Amino acid sequence: MMAQILSGKVAAAAWKDKIKEQVSARISEGKSQPHLAAILIGNDPASSAYVRGKVRDCDEVGFQSTLIHLPETASVEEVLAEIAKLNNNPSVSGYIVQLPLPKGMDDTRILLAIDPEKDVDGFHPENVGRMALGLPTYLPATPFGVLLLLEHYQISTEGKHAVIVGRSHIVGSPMSILLGRNGKLGNATATLTHSKTPNLAEMTRQADILIAAIGKPGFINASHVKPGAIVIDVGINRVEEKLVGDVDFEGVMPFASAISPVPGGVGLMTRVGLLMNTLRAADGRG
Ligand code: NDP
Repeated sequence: MMAQILSGKVAAAAWKDKIKEQVSARISEGKSQPHLAAILIGNDPASSAYVRGKVRDCDEVGFQSTLIHLPETASVEEVLAEIAKLNNNPSVSGYIVQLPLPKGMDDTRILLAIDPEKDVDGFHPENVGRMALGLPTYLPATPFGVLLLLEHYQISTEGKHAVIVGRSHIVGSPMSILLGRNGKLGNATATLTHSKTPNLAEMTRQADILIAAIGKPGFINASHVKPGAIVIDVGINRVEEKLVGDVDFEGVMPFASAISPVPGGVGLMTRVGLLMNTLRAADGRG
């Protein structure tokens, strides 16, 4: 058996076409152009590349974008001042503060200063709470992107056993909430595993859908995978200048029924998740 490749490239292009159509439609109806802003602090090459990608996406789908680049030495007060400006700027639909922040900067103060109505990363506690309660909100972009990837390939989650490895606040934990909830692309039985899970491979071998969000190159191998499982690799790890996932792609490929590659998988879908949230923000969070 050879697995189907769940291409983030193909799925992201299809979703971006849909978003572009919706932007044209709203502009011809006289509605506002969605506008995403990003605050980038410092010169971390990976963060700079991510932000550039997000700006390019905005151009592609017809959003306005604004990049606010602050120096590595910026104080929390300076960042908070930019946040206040964005909160009060009615032309900005939503914005993100690119993570990670420079060492020593207080994440919580920054996160809490973001107007939840404009928090298109969905990281503000109010929006995390709304997500957990199934209320209208912005979904965290990476798990949202995974759902959009599954939707594109018409993979149903209902009644399936989804095992997620990794419980971070931005990926694993919201992924398990979204897959387990009673709603569209939910209704799975979601098991959230982490570094304290004993006999991890025994758990992951029960998965119909296995999602790896660990941050360890090639950690998930053939021994972790039930034949026929769908394997989603969220990991992005740099190994000798190459990007690799958390899944040993070549080793797992012969056993899975479908698998997402790295690069060209979930990373591109994360960016679509952010675009979707910004489109939503143009009309208000709800
Ligand atoms: P974190 O480091 O925040 O979390 C990693 C999780 O993996 C933790 O819950 C940890 O468990 C768990 N873990 C670590 N080692 C093991 C182990 N041996 N067995 C089981 N679980 C383990 O990472 P993130 O969630 O932020 O990111 C995960 C990966 O996804 C990274 O490679 C990152 O680069 C990538 N990523 C990709 C994105 C995309 O757009 N595709 C977006 C965000 C991240 P514990 O909690 O017990 O420590």
